[in-house]
Amino acid sequence: MKFDVDLFVIGAGSGGVRAARIAAGHGARVAIAEEYRVGGTCVVRGCVPKKLLVVGAHFAQDLDDAPRFGWRVEAARFDWPTLRDHVLAEVDRLSRLYQSTLDFHGVETIRGRAVLAGPHRVRVGGREITARHVLVATGATPQVPDVPGAELGITSNEVFHLPDLPARVAIVGGGYIACEFAGIFHELGADVVQVLRGPRLLKGWEPALADRLLSLCVARGIEVRLNAAPLRLEPCGRGVRLHLAHGPPVEADLLLWATGRIPKTQGLGLEALGVARGPRGGIIVDDRSTTNLPWLHAVGDVTDRIQLTPVAIREGHALADRLFGGVDRPVDYRFVPSAVFSNPPLASVGLTEPEARDRLGGVRIHTADFRPLKNVLAGREERALFKLVVDAATDRVVGAHLIGPDAPEILQALAIAVRAGITKAELDATVALHPTMAEELVLMR
Ligand code: NDP
Repeated sequence: MKFDVDLFVIGAGSGGVRAARIAAGHGARVAIAEEYRVGGTCVVRGCVPKKLLVVGAHFAQDLDDAPRFGWRVEAARFDWPTLRDHVLAEVDRLSRLYQSTLDFHGVETIRGRAVLAGPHRVRVGGREITARHVLVATGATPQVPDVPGAELGITSNEVFHLPDLPARVAIVGGGYIACEFAGIFHELGADVVQVLRGPRLLKGWEPALADRLLSLCVARGIEVRLNAAPLRLEPCGRGVRLHLAHGPPVEADLLLWATGRIPKTQGLGLEALGVARGPRGGIIVDDRSTTNLPWLHAVGDVTDRIQLTPVAIREGHALADRLFGGVDRPVDYRFVPSAVFSNPPLASVGLTEPEARDRLGGVRIHTADFRPLKNVLAGREERALFKLVVDAATDRVVGAHLIGPDAPEILQALAIAVRAGITKAELDATVALHPTMAEELVLMR
């Protein structure tokens, strides 16, 4: 059978764009459909603009600390529209860059919402296109609790476009997005209340780090309500009032739902084709990103595996290499590092202590609990915490977990060593680089 294209990609986010570009590089005829903006969540309303807001917000702390370092900073004043517009302009630039990459590689971009119309068949913008392979890379979308008045709150989709900086912000959730925006809004001067349905922040993360973040957030003045499931939201003046299962209601000018993201699979035509799906609607794929239909593939958040950009990129790249480049190199999901850009940030790779105790015979734990040099001079009591989880039988470092300034920058380098199988003895044998925070990694006895 002759097909219009070799690969049709639905969704021009990180995973889809990478797959399209690599496939085209291997000589495949590729088309990609995007209903919103090229770049996807990471570029348009996720990692990149978020990180820029984190950087922008952090000036507050540096300005606070500046007098201790001899700097007199008179009348510093924050202007939200300036930061917002610069961030959005950068998003525009990156989105255009993604588009020109697609153009450069000869990938046809089709504006509109694509649906699967049958085997090897996609419908978009009034056209029907046949494809040897179809890749679904539609990502995920914020999930909001099913409570009355939920529509009065916003999600991370809207948060980058706020006309003004709210004075009082309520954030529901204890995961990545909640912790990151609690830090951003707090540093920008808002009163922040973070509301969790469970007993701790960052479920699944190393508990010692999550507990450290909680105590630092509380000490800084973020109010954290634990075990407080949201019941209903109602208008209150120009803001909202959130009623909770426990404790008094929370009033705020803005409420941000940061309650998870679910795979974006609705209306794609998956049911009619009998595509296997998981409990949250995610497309089930094998370790090479292929669904139960041999011509249909899926990468990134829509598969509900690991919702991280670099993972989606790897999956898209590996798939294109396998389908069109004759290279079958599956993605290695062991030791995927990740970070929460809270203030201070956390970063982690490998097993947490509870996971290691569950899976391994014997476990050794090494920690460094210290006050970074800058905090000492700044008069900040805040301490960093580094934790290594070691397999007692082999001396291999199987997990590394850091909270403190620049933790993600430090952890990326450490993750290489951990993945390569470094032992604790090899860390100990490495000479410290002084004075740094990272030197603590080789000084834990
Ligand atoms: P997370 O899964 O990290 O956290 C969701 C939070 O919402 C949890 O605290 C969860 O509680 C809570 N929750 C879920 N449902 C409800 C409910 N009905 N009522 C009250 N609370 C609820 O999701 P995020 O939205 O923060 O982020 C989505 C994903 O995006 C992340 O998992 C991550 O993979 C990715 N991401 C990565 C970032 C990074 O790499 N830095 C940054 C931002 C996002 P509980 O713990 O009790 O389940």
